[in-house]
Amino acid sequence: MDYSMLPIFGEADIVVCGGGTAGVFAAIAAAEMGKSVIIAEQFGSLGGSATNALVMPIMHSHIPDRNPQCSYIAHIVREKLEAIGGCINNGANFDPLLMKAVLEEMCTDAGVKLFLHTFFADAVVENGALTAIVVANKNGLGLIKGKMFIDGSGDGDVCVRAGASYTKGNPETGKNQPISLRYIIGNIDFVALKEYVQELTARVGRDTGAYAWDDGAYIDCTNDGKSAFNDVFDEAIAKGDLVPEDKAYWQGFVIAGRPKCLAFNCPEFFDDIDGTNPDHLTKTQVLGKQRVIRQLQFYKKYFKGFENAYICEIASMVGVRESRNIITEYVLTAEDLLLRRKFDDMFSQSNYPIDIHGVKLRCDINTQVADDGKPWYEIPYRSLVVKGFDNLFITGRCLGAEFIAQSSLRIQLSARSSGECAGIAAAVALDKGITPKEIDGKEIREIMISKGADFLD
Ligand SMILES: Cc1cc2nc3c(=O)[nH]c(=O)nc-3n(C[C@H](O)[C@H](O)[C@H](O)COP(=O)(O)OP(=O)(O)OC[C@H]3O[C@@H](n4cnc5c(N)ncnc54)[C@H](O)[C@@H]3O)c2cc1C
Repeated sequence: MDYSMLPIFGEADIVVCGGGTAGVFAAIAAAEMGKSVIIAEQFGSLGGSATNALVMPIMHSHIPDRNPQCSYIAHIVREKLEAIGGCINNGANFDPLLMKAVLEEMCTDAGVKLFLHTFFADAVVENGALTAIVVANKNGLGLIKGKMFIDGSGDGDVCVRAGASYTKGNPETGKNQPISLRYIIGNIDFVALKEYVQELTARVGRDTGAYAWDDGAYIDCTNDGKSAFNDVFDEAIAKGDLVPEDKAYWQGFVIAGRPKCLAFNCPEFFDDIDGTNPDHLTKTQVLGKQRVIRQLQFYKKYFKGFENAYICEIASMVGVRESRNIITEYVLTAEDLLLRRKFDDMFSQSNYPIDIHGVKLRCDINTQVADDGKPWYEIPYRSLVVKGFDNLFITGRCLGAEFIAQSSLRIQLSARSSGECAGIAAAVALDKGITPKEIDGKEIREIMISKGADFLD
């Protein structure tokens, strides 16, 4: 399509599409390398899944006794959140509203130009190079021009519209990971919930999988029949107060700085789960709210501690675990993770397990992880460099990885370092007048370290 008549809404050295975790880290990192940076974000706030889909806490790397952040920006975000009571547990457990505010402040302080309420619609490719993105906002359609582009959309929207190749879904079934619409319940009496959990454990004679204390709780029931909560869900289903899907995945966490609240990692949907299909996203929003209301009525009727509870928030953004993954110079495999492969150009270290919801892991490779004395896998810089392009990076959950590998590296810990690495690399490419492919990823990691990023030896 010819977009040459469109007005130019903005122009920058580096254009980031999507202001989620990876996009924001990319933009801050690039701006702090002295580049002009624009973020185009469809919603009215930054943080993406972590804030608008209410996804917290940040998962631990699962490296025994260590939790490298592989990011310098992560430390600053934690310090800023701690200063306003917005996080606990070393930054892992955060308030999503305050996270938005901190990310927005950090972007503007770094000089990043924000285009919120601005939806990416198409890519302009001239002579094989991406030259602009086409966006839509209150001013209609327009162009944002750039020299380097970073796709932080979570779905690889820019890469796909520019013509990059991608994979999508479980190769065995063609289906994506389940999606969720998360919510927050307030005014829970945790002392009463703790008593209820103790009573239930004694009555059913099995552990609940829940840990309730005087001012908080962690609750979990994942349809494996083990938790005592299963019996309560089954009773409610038999009486018509719940439907079986309500039991499929149920989990709740406390939120930093919000007493009497739990953030629920559900309801989860197993059909119509394509995060790039507007019908599926719409259906999840509409049905999800009905499920949330039904689940609160269930808590009130069957549990103790929820008598005066209410719904504080239902996510404005559907929680998409996995959609597209872009083909990059290196595509991570399950073997890379399970064999704990190390890369010279790595930017991230993690041992977070393979985490495919609703599916027991079935690999035709040895699922026993290798033990080389360094219990983590690494993600190489090349998995951010989009194949076939000289000025385009992919970051976050849709970087170059096969389905099984993606299920582990999709956590926010990895998304953060992928953004930071891409932002610095985009700036270095411009400074040196070279393409992303010509960059030595080791050099980017050294810049990350010089700015305060921590890695394991
Ligand atoms: C239900 C659920 C539970 C999870 N649980 C955990 C957990 O407990 N801990 C953990 O660490 N990780 C968890 N994850 C994974 C993790 O939260 C995400 O993978 C990660 O936050 C993704 O970051 P991202 O930057 O790649 O994408 P996102 O944060 O999703 O950012 C993408 C951004 O791009 C914007 N965007 C998309 N398309 C366009 C467009 N066309 N135009 C303009 N803007 C656009 C979006 O609005 C969004 O702001 C969970 C994920 C889900 C869905």
